[in-house]
Amino acid sequence: CPERETKEKDCRTEPISEPEWVNNVEFFITKKLGVWCRGRNGEWHLGKIQSASGDAACVVLSTTEVVEVSMKEILPANPDVLEGVDDLIQLSYLNEPSVLYNLRVRYSQDLIYSKAGPVLIAVNPFKNVQIYGNDIRSAYQKKALVAPHVYAVADAAFDEMMREEKNQSIIISGESGAGKTETAKYAMQYLEALGGGNFGVDNEILKTNCILEAFGNAKTSRNDNSSRFGKLMEIHFSAKGKICGAKLETCASPILKERLNLKEASEYNYLNQSNCLTIDRIDDAQKFHKLMIPQEHQERAFALLAAVLWLGNVSFEVIDNENHVDVVADEAVTNVAMLMGCDSKELMVVLSTCKLQAGRDCIAKRLTLPQATDMRDSLAKIIYASLFNWLVEQINTSLEVGKLRTGRSISILDIYGFESFKEYEGDGIDWTKVEFKDNQECLDLIEKVISSVPSLDLKPIGLVSLLDEESNFPKATDTTFANKLKHHLKANSCFRGERRGHGFRVSHYAGEVLYDTNGFLEKNRDPLHVDLIQLLSSCNCQLLNLFSSKMRDKSLKPSLSESMNQSVITKFKSQLFKLMNKLEDTTPHFIRCIKPNSNHLPGVYEENHVLQQLRCCGVLEIVRISRSGYHTRMTHQDLAARYGFLLDTKLSQDPLSTSDSIMKQFNLPPEMYQVGYRKIYLRTGQIGLLEERREYV
Ligand code: ATP
Ligand code: MG
Repeated sequence: CPERETKEKDCRTEPISEPEWVNNVEFFITKKLGVWCRGRNGEWHLGKIQSASGDAACVVLSTTEVVEVSMKEILPANPDVLEGVDDLIQLSYLNEPSVLYNLRVRYSQDLIYSKAGPVLIAVNPFKNVQIYGNDIRSAYQKKALVAPHVYAVADAAFDEMMREEKNQSIIISGESGAGKTETAKYAMQYLEALGGGNFGVDNEILKTNCILEAFGNAKTSRNDNSSRFGKLMEIHFSAKGKICGAKLETCASPILKERLNLKEASEYNYLNQSNCLTIDRIDDAQKFHKLMIPQEHQERAFALLAAVLWLGNVSFEVIDNENHVDVVADEAVTNVAMLMGCDSKELMVVLSTCKLQAGRDCIAKRLTLPQATDMRDSLAKIIYASLFNWLVEQINTSLEVGKLRTGRSISILDIYGFESFKEYEGDGIDWTKVEFKDNQECLDLIEKVISSVPSLDLKPIGLVSLLDEESNFPKATDTTFANKLKHHLKANSCFRGERRGHGFRVSHYAGEVLYDTNGFLEKNRDPLHVDLIQLLSSCNCQLLNLFSSKMRDKSLKPSLSESMNQSVITKFKSQLFKLMNKLEDTTPHFIRCIKPNSNHLPGVYEENHVLQQLRCCGVLEIVRISRSGYHTRMTHQDLAARYGFLLDTKLSQDPLSTSDSIMKQFNLPPEMYQVGYRKIYLRTGQIGLLEERREYV
């Protein structure tokens, strides 16, 4: 029998087509089966066709409303027995309203996880759901629970890693606030429980989230705890499946606030412009105490944070009619100087002048108000970004990631939007035949590489290279950049230049986006201010000295891919390529997070909002690909309990024989089912036929 089970798995290769439901309309009318139909408000409603003539049908909706609609606008609903199935591939009729309804039914029962073939769908509950306790976790570990869950994904990745000795990745995508970071944390929590207990480092990896989130997250209108960085957490395991890691701990000092001259958040320009300083139900103080940085670094790190805050309050006064400025000598600039460990006069000079080389002489030129403001904000950004990068380095050192190359690792990627078709190619499934919208044209628009002369240099043309090219022209403006794009990219069907002004539109996979080139060139250049690096090196602060020497090293090696002289977009591109290369070496497991409403409310399921996200990540297409086999599965016990009474013969004691008899009595074609040791496997649509017999009786 186990052999039989293996054979069944191998059978799932041939795709079968969608049921031609349109030919079955008569059947739907006589059997009074459910259909989907749009009500006057445009939402999908369940209904029953009363009558149909030609192209028109009269449908009674569940709201008792009667509507007359074109047959083309009606879609078949699934039999009740399939309501809330845990894998969408089990649906007999695969259409958007059915998928939406299925997820809604599950969501209303707090079943936030569902499968779409190989992909896990997670609908954000926006409340605590009791599904992450130790008991549930150990049930997944023991394989006693198989329902869709992030734990099941982590468990499968772990098993495959141990079995195949191949690195794995868990790739989590979804829009802002959909639950990616939370899902990533649950995956880490599971893996830590599974592989913990080696060096006494239980939960150390989870704890790093606290630091990363404290420095790298922000409250936005879309998410109270929005990640402002992409994160790939790589967890390495020993041959015995134990995590290899290190410890990171500390606690916060109560007199810190006074020592750092800190005031209320509302007093700082960098914070109060957001108009959101508190979050309901969140106790910042309690979160702060959970924040752990090694003791020796903690105070220096906080001093620099305070310096950044005070920098935002540094102001300027205009001293002539050419808009040149002086720094206002107030407590803001004094505090910044104190916290950075430099002379306040020197700081004021750096923030209000720039040094120019004139022959052999170096002259100081006074800055205008916008230039000085830019200089001040650049300094704040350099300190903050260097601090964050330094923290990540510290975490990596303490976790010993980098030294370990075990070939047994699971990487958890928490980033926005990611598509991979390689997976399907590898499986021998021709995904081009499925309705995946080909995104090549859009990718070409962003960065197409063409060879100008065969076998010679590859010349990239596309948005990225045009932006870099224009950023290198000193006289270029945002308007000349917009014109350049229109000139070079007009032939690409995904591009549309606005007739006037700075704008252009790109048709991305997920929809059209209007871009404004205003500020593109300046942001892309992100010039490195030599004066600022010099200032950092002269400070009486080891961390700032370290940051400045790192920046100097990078700027001295322009050939390196991470050079500071590179444009922002080029740096971003090379980071993305590195990430792609890394992930291509792993077996991917996908999780798509769905945000059910834009108000962060529990229990609210906004259909259009969900539909948009399902469309963007191609859920229907994934299900179609995956439905190529026997995807309705039922244990013999369940089948016997539901349909056994239909048998003409006496019910056998053995549920497997009962299944066999049911299939034979109702003449299900042999290619439409497989009888396994524990379960019966049915092709799409077959359960509907059995249901019909059941209804008939
Ligand atoms: P961003 O792209 O902005 O970083 P995100 O997809 O990472 O967004 P999260 O920060 O993970 O979103 O989730 C947003 C909020 O949704 C969380 O702060 C939490 O309140 C809630 N949430 C997400 N997932 C869950 C869950 N499984 N259980 C309970 N609440 C959740
Ligand atoms: Mg996040």
